[in-house]
Amino acid sequence: MQHSSDLKDYIRTIPDYPKPGIQFRDVTTLFSNPRGFRIAVDRLLHPYSGLEISKVVALEARGFILGGAVAHQLGLGFVPIRKSGKLPGSVLREEYELEYGQDTMELHDDALVKSDRVLIVDDLIATGGTCEAGIKLIRHSGAEIVGAAFIVDLPELGGLKKIEAMDVPVHVLCNFDGD
Ligand code: AMP
Repeated sequence: MQHSSDLKDYIRTIPDYPKPGIQFRDVTTLFSNPRGFRIAVDRLLHPYSGLEISKVVALEARGFILGGAVAHQLGLGFVPIRKSGKLPGSVLREEYELEYGQDTMELHDDALVKSDRVLIVDDLIATGGTCEAGIKLIRHSGAEIVGAAFIVDLPELGGLKKIEAMDVPVHVLCNFDGD
């Protein structure tokens, strides 16, 4: 496991978290492994180096850990999309459904401009509801979305197809059957 090149080997599964029936794919074990973290960041940004992108936009909270590293490596600015009430300035808001609940996402209304070309980063795509809310916020600001990159896809929940149907190309590094 210390030297695996299969990212799935670094991801821990916690059954019945945060509620019965959910298999929680815990990427903190990947983040804490130097090789796992580096492979994940390198593979996430690989398709985008050399493309015309101006900002990495990441989704709270695990997306920030990856998005910061990807933005730094690509030499780009970083913009957070946060849960309700966390951003201090004037915000755009979007409500969305989660695999386990409902929430609201916010983006500073001056964080992006029309000429921005954005890469979205998060750790995992499940139903795609979080990313869909992010896409709506980014498009509301007038910026263009180049793609969305995730470490994990849960194919049975259909999020990847939902996001591709919104004309956003998706890049994922691995997937887990079941939810
Ligand atoms: P969704 O909006 O359904 O695509 O959910 C994606 C967000 O919820 C991501 O930011 C994940 O961090 C988190 N998430 C949803 N389901 C899981 C799961 N089974 N394991 C780990 N994280 C999850």
